[in-house]
Amino acid sequence: MNREMQALIAKESTFQEGVEKLLALRGSLFEQITQIVTTFPEEAFCQMPFAGADGYHSKTLAYSIWHIFRIEDIVAHEMIAGDQQVLFSQGFQDAVQSSRITTGNELIGIEIVDFSRQLNVKELYRYAREVRQSTDQILKHLEYADLKRKFGDEMIEKLRNTHCISEAESAGWLIEYWCGKDVLGLIRMPFSRHWIMHIEAMRRIKNRLCKLARKGVDPVAYCGLSCNHCFLAAWCGSCRTAYNTCSFATVSPDGKCPNAVCCQEKGIEGCYACDLLEVCEKGFYVPSNDRANAAKAQALYIRKHGRQAFLKVHDRLHEKYDFARTQEILGQDYQEGLRILEEN
Ligand code: SF4
Ligand code: SF4
Repeated sequence: MNREMQALIAKESTFQEGVEKLLALRGSLFEQITQIVTTFPEEAFCQMPFAGADGYHSKTLAYSIWHIFRIEDIVAHEMIAGDQQVLFSQGFQDAVQSSRITTGNELIGIEIVDFSRQLNVKELYRYAREVRQSTDQILKHLEYADLKRKFGDEMIEKLRNTHCISEAESAGWLIEYWCGKDVLGLIRMPFSRHWIMHIEAMRRIKNRLCKLARKGVDPVAYCGLSCNHCFLAAWCGSCRTAYNTCSFATVSPDGKCPNAVCCQEKGIEGCYACDLLEVCEKGFYVPSNDRANAAKAQALYIRKHGRQAFLKVHDRLHEKYDFARTQEILGQDYQEGLRILEEN
């Protein structure tokens, strides 16, 4: 999308199409931030699982969100629109509980963790959403001729006077970098590529946090699937931890899988210990889910033969067949699926 947007937006005849592509790209990237904020526990946002690494993934989730949207807020409002930044116009500094107004480029190592700990993540997300929406409005009203607009010494001075960019060596260069670009250049970096780079880094951070969370945790999920053999395990931290980002958790409004919640309320180990399993249509077992019967077959197998035997069957199935989703081999009938598991 980014490549297509870049090509479309640079030509007068396809400029509007390019803006629409840019808005769609930003929408889909922002959706990833939304999913992280709605499904990850508060503590995840100040963890630094790649501390000392060379790259954007060496930061924290909270820092990444702050940094992306501080930069966008400054560039969109001080440089392009010439009005007040969202941080100030809507009182977000207090709401987010940030001790600073800068982009954060000047922070290193433990300073990033300490700064992340201060931030109110829900308010930070609200700030990010407001900045995105206000920038989207600016982008919608841009005309092709605006792309060539350049920024001179006056803008450099103005940005310095905002004190929103630290004078530290690791941050001060930003002002001249932005002012060396025209509006098209700014669209290509702070409003698109900069998002991509940091959101990609956020994905690496969250996947690592999930992997760490799963360590030593019972690998049999509440619904009857095996986390050890699950194709989602690269980015799910197990429904038995606070890092549950399985498909049903991420689509649930409260970020919790209905099967996990139901088992916890009943005080049972998993759906395999429930008398209603065969007839249940909750969460993962909703009839419209094409994995429902395969999951039920596995839960029934666990009920009959236990968790250790179940994990061994999975090992054997994976040795024998090439599959990612269990319904590919267990089919759509849970009795038949159970039979296949017992034959292996
Ligand atoms: S999606 Fe379910 S089975 Fe897969 S890793 Fe997450 S909790 Fe485990
Ligand atoms: S009612 Fe359904 S979701 Fe709840 S524990 Fe029983 S099988 Fe699982």
